[in-house]
Amino acid sequence: MFYIGCHLSSSSGYLSMGKTAVELGANTFQFFTRNPRGGSVKKFDGADAAALVAYMKENGFGKIVAHAPYTLNPASAEEKTREFADMVFADDIEIMEHLPGNLYNFHPGSHVGQGVDTGIGYILEMLNRNMRRDMTTTVLLETMAGKGSEIGSRFEELKTIIDGCEYSEHLGVCLDTCHISDGGYDVKDGLDETLEEFDRVIGLNRLCAIHLNDSKNERGAHKDRHEKIGEGFIGLEYIEKIINHPAFANLPFELETPNDNEGYAREIALLKGLKK
Ligand code: FE
Ligand code: FE
Ligand code: ZN
Repeated sequence: MFYIGCHLSSSSGYLSMGKTAVELGANTFQFFTRNPRGGSVKKFDGADAAALVAYMKENGFGKIVAHAPYTLNPASAEEKTREFADMVFADDIEIMEHLPGNLYNFHPGSHVGQGVDTGIGYILEMLNRNMRRDMTTTVLLETMAGKGSEIGSRFEELKTIIDGCEYSEHLGVCLDTCHISDGGYDVKDGLDETLEEFDRVIGLNRLCAIHLNDSKNERGAHKDRHEKIGEGFIGLEYIEKIINHPAFANLPFELETPNDNEGYAREIALLKGLKK
């Protein structure tokens, strides 16, 4: 099954996002759990979440991806910032159980100078304090572009987090095509080798979702500037190979390209036409 969708604004509520996704030709979507640049959240509406769950079932949706706010940085050197991350993560994890069996993606964080090992230690404190054995959500570590002191631009760093997590049976990875290209991995002619490396270091069984983005910059740029599908460094020929790669079969693909909903609908239609 080809699960393709895009990032949607969550301001109109859960069921409304599901309906918008269908209007755009999607059968999955991604949304921010709260204000991406702050942390505020609307009062949780359980009836609306239940309505989305029913709607997704009726319409054959794949898994959806909730994205943590960008301000969540569990790897920070600042205690206040780590406490905020802990609070947001705990709250989001609880909310996600009302959308059972879906995906919650976060950026591992930036260590801001104190070093990767210290940063990863703090990330693990947050995960081990708040994840639970009986949770139905899979928590995803996103592959990062390696901008500044971002953790997670090397597969080895994600593997260290997975190995240190007491609840690793509920941990997975979200692969962002723009980010790993910016991080130095080849997603064009070397896609097979990159995925072999992913399999060797992390294990392809951990791969749960794809952020499908073109990149404004060349491989290894460590910039993290997404581009519309086919208009960037990766290009349509290689995007076509990515969506048809057997390692990605049945995973949800989420577009995070610079688009409004109309642009997303066009990209979704284009990608459906390229899917074999
Ligand atoms: Fe992200
Ligand atoms: Fe992403
Ligand atoms: Zn990005």
